[in-house]
Amino acid sequence: MGVPGPGGPIIYLDNNATTPVAPEVVDALLPYLKADYWNPSSAYDRARSASDAIARSRNAVAVFLGGVDPGEVLFTACATESCNTAIFGAARANPERRHVITTAVEHPAVLEVCKELQRTGHEVTFLPVDRKGSVGLKDFVRALRPDTLIVAVMHANNETGVVFPIAELARLTKETDPSILFFTDATQTAGKVAIDLKGEFASVDMLAFSGHKLHAPKGVGVLFVRRGARWRPFMIGGHQEGGRRAGTENVPYIVGLARAIELASKDHAEVERRICALRDRLERELLARIPYLEVNGAGAPRLPNTLNISCHFIEGEGILYQLNELGICASSGSACTSGSLEPSHVLRAMGVPFTAVHGSVRFSLSRYNTDADIDRAIDVFPTIVASLRRLSPYWDVARNRPRPEAEGMLREGSGGKP
Ligand code: PLP
Repeated sequence: MGVPGPGGPIIYLDNNATTPVAPEVVDALLPYLKADYWNPSSAYDRARSASDAIARSRNAVAVFLGGVDPGEVLFTACATESCNTAIFGAARANPERRHVITTAVEHPAVLEVCKELQRTGHEVTFLPVDRKGSVGLKDFVRALRPDTLIVAVMHANNETGVVFPIAELARLTKETDPSILFFTDATQTAGKVAIDLKGEFASVDMLAFSGHKLHAPKGVGVLFVRRGARWRPFMIGGHQEGGRRAGTENVPYIVGLARAIELASKDHAEVERRICALRDRLERELLARIPYLEVNGAGAPRLPNTLNISCHFIEGEGILYQLNELGICASSGSACTSGSLEPSHVLRAMGVPFTAVHGSVRFSLSRYNTDADIDRAIDVFPTIVASLRRLSPYWDVARNRPRPEAEGMLREGSGGKP
């Protein structure tokens, strides 16, 4: 049970934050840290092994994305760089277009870029989401305008796992105006959900993801840019990546990313079925054992590995602290910003009630999780929740339910704008 950790074995249920590097990935990349350390741009014969390795890896990514042209695949340092590059690059190449569409629940790698464009003169529509965390197609179509530059909508949400109808949104965009760029942040889906940029996603112009969410190391990402998309590079100062992303390539990690992709593709259906069964069991058992528990994103299409729950009347941070003491790693929806615990912008946008928005915990699984990990989480979680509720002034311990005066609060939305 569990994986080795610094203070003994741990149960790692925070795979949307990052994933353990697969041993096969380490084996594949090590030669490029040791013997084959060459700069891929060097002219001597030996360096060819590095440039060839990049070419092979690029081909592997191109196949993984549905058989796109390898020339449409750029290696970057992370998904944040890919998202920044895509959106700022589109804005710089199309200065006459001043309108951007995104959602209220994007990762900051997109949300903050859109806010920066807003600060510098663009108009940005932050599409709302409904209580399940989904975007309405009617709202979306209404938001498209003749001066829309780019649509940036994530493939799946990192906090709730809610999957957005990207194929449909991209198609609607192109039907309205083929020159509007469509970008999707696929950081949470690459390796979990098939991505076919020649088929279902044929209307997507740009797509980003990151190695460390699919068992490759941190420090390598991908940006797909469809041939013909009007876009300008962000990183300049070198000829690498065809002059579209300057900087000496991170050969070992690019090789590792290609190996991780190979692993993810090999037994994808079987792994997905197993992870989904573990996640569903965790969800079912926690709902059965804990009153006043909500599954955020329930009813919407969700990633098979993600469970985001809110426990009314307690703080997610308190839960995480106790889970941590027991060697279980998960995460909460709160971000500690400037000393105050801000509830998640995603849950607020979904209208999660005030009493639940602070009490959210995200469990995210990977291929390395076992039945025993889930047994342990099911075993300890209800006790943790009960112990924290005992301290809540709103909780009636004897009746194991909220005090009557707190019942009304259950329906109060937390509100929230990006
Ligand atoms: N986009 C999403 C949806 C994410 O979940 C993350 C990381 O959590 C990022 C972007 C940023 O990825 P990176 O850490 O590779 O920059």
